[in-house]
Amino acid sequence: MAAGHTPICIITGASSGIGLWASKALVERGWHVVMACRDTAKAEAAAREIGIAPESRIIMRLDLGTLSGVRGFVEEFRTLARPLDALVCNAATYMPRLTEPLRSPEGYELSVATNYFGHFLLANLLLDDLGKARDARLVTLGTVTANSEEFGGKVPIPAPADLGDFEGLKAGFTAPVAMIDGKPFKPGKAYKDSKLACMMMNRELHARFHDATGIVFTTLYPGCVADTPLFRHAPKAFQRIFPWFQKNVTGGYVSQPLAGERVADVVTEPAFARSGVHWSWGNRQREGREAFAQSLSAKASDAARSRELWELTARLVGLTERVTEPA
Ligand code: NAP
Repeated sequence: MAAGHTPICIITGASSGIGLWASKALVERGWHVVMACRDTAKAEAAAREIGIAPESRIIMRLDLGTLSGVRGFVEEFRTLARPLDALVCNAATYMPRLTEPLRSPEGYELSVATNYFGHFLLANLLLDDLGKARDARLVTLGTVTANSEEFGGKVPIPAPADLGDFEGLKAGFTAPVAMIDGKPFKPGKAYKDSKLACMMMNRELHARFHDATGIVFTTLYPGCVADTPLFRHAPKAFQRIFPWFQKNVTGGYVSQPLAGERVADVVTEPAFARSGVHWSWGNRQREGREAFAQSLSAKASDAARSRELWELTARLVGLTERVTEPA
């Protein structure tokens, strides 16, 4: 960290779970955080409860499920006239028991709209801000269940992530379409697809903008943080059994504070200054476990597919100009 400069990081979805604990970890490393949350009162209460110093945090409203909400957040952030050193795209919604898709105001299926479209727009709008900082980083939460290169990504419940040939996006992604691949709605798969799309977004951000801007673009899987509110819409029995199973059977369980530290490592540590990487701590946790660069599946690593996904998404979120042209 340069002397005299207090770096600033925006973290989306910092009202609970990994984003909340990452905010605390960053503040304890001398950073200021902008906690970008849809429920600011909840974020304030959570920040107080775990002791995030009030002078080191700003809580700002961001609803990623609406494109106008994302644009409004960026405008409001700019009124602070503060530089931006890092953006953590963390927020997500997981609604595995829906029988019919929920829709954003634009008519898009809500988990893809929130987890992927909202972050796609946010990342693009903040690129210029990040580009002004030295050692800027844009970090996105990925997940093992969206990477068919790994065992967790092959689990067929309800189905592995698969974006097909983006038929749903090509058809405009409004009703009756609810899935990126255009197939019938499966809410659990919609979540996995949204996370896979985020990981492919990162590859394309790297390809387009790393050389020109110096921004380091990464994703990470911090481990299975099985007791966060992410699982609040899953059946109650699942919420009880899943943490136990991850602790005692798979060994994949990671606590929320440790996951927060891992996010903070990827934001701040020189060892994570490699752009285009998906970092993982693997699926069997043990004391002192080191991160490693995890490869993605062949389809997720295909440059032409990432480019096509980028261009389709840019159109759906209303972005044109330089973001649709390779650097
Ligand atoms: P979490 O505690 O539920 O946190 C999700 C955050 O996203 C909450 O602050 C939530 O806000 C926010 N959010 C939801 N919809 C939003 C919207 N429309 N606009 C703005 N914010 C919104 O879950 P978590 O486990 O910490 O998940 C954080 C990230 O880690 C996610 O990207 C998830 O995919 C990833 N991840 C989690 C695990 C795990 O095992 N938990 C593993 C791998 C990756 P509200 O409080 O208002 O709902």
